[in-house]
Amino acid sequence: MGVDEDGLVTRRTEIEQGLAGVRERISRACASAHRPDDVTLVVVTKTYPASDVRILAELGVRDVGENRHQEAASKFAECADLGLSWHMIGQLQRNKAAAVVRWADVIETIDRPELADAVGRSAVAYGAERDVLLQVNLDQPVRAERGGCAPEDVRALCDHVAAVTGLQVRGVMGVAPHPGEPEEAFARLARIAAEVREVIPGATVLSAGMSDDLEAAIAHGATHVRVGSAVLGRRPTLQ
Ligand SMILES: *Cc1c(COP(=O)(O)O)cnc(C)c1O
Repeated sequence: MGVDEDGLVTRRTEIEQGLAGVRERISRACASAHRPDDVTLVVVTKTYPASDVRILAELGVRDVGENRHQEAASKFAECADLGLSWHMIGQLQRNKAAAVVRWADVIETIDRPELADAVGRSAVAYGAERDVLLQVNLDQPVRAERGGCAPEDVRALCDHVAAVTGLQVRGVMGVAPHPGEPEEAFARLARIAAEVREVIPGATVLSAGMSDDLEAAIAHGATHVRVGSAVLGRRPTLQ
């Protein structure tokens, strides 16, 4: 079982083990933080094939993350029967908004008003509301090429996106500086998330933490972690 006739560990077993390890880490981090074990695991499937997405679904994963719209669109088409929730976690250009709303249930990388407007218009045209997160840049100083809104601009972005038809602001998303100190960055993100909730009480999602820093994110209130390599293995190319 889990080993094919040549004695090789099957991909399913590999993924099952990766997933068990990450779920265990999440449970332990929740226990240490005296939180209920209710953090949502978004498995980041970028660069991995649709067959892996299918295995993940069989193993109980409900949320997957992708960062390139073209790769995601074709994987989504192959996996449309699985009923998964697809998260766009990559930087997004306005001219890709119409393509992204066709596969993404949640767009985690809204970082400027014009992008929100484009995604909102596309969602309305497609006939489906989309959940969005406001991406906050946690680099100090802010590094625009990494995506994300500067912390001091989040309030204005929040006010703007709250009024865009077709979008529901569900919370905030951030990527820790690299190299950097995730604890301090996630503490800042948690404060910004609280400010956003003052404007939009229903914006309760805090998407933070990846393979290397999910414990720090959970300690600072992450409701969602986005984990790729710790579940699926190291990606062949830098992403
Ligand atoms: C690739 C990626 C992840 C997952 O990274 P791992 O280190 O493989 O867990 C999470 N968030 C974003 C925005 C990513 O691009």
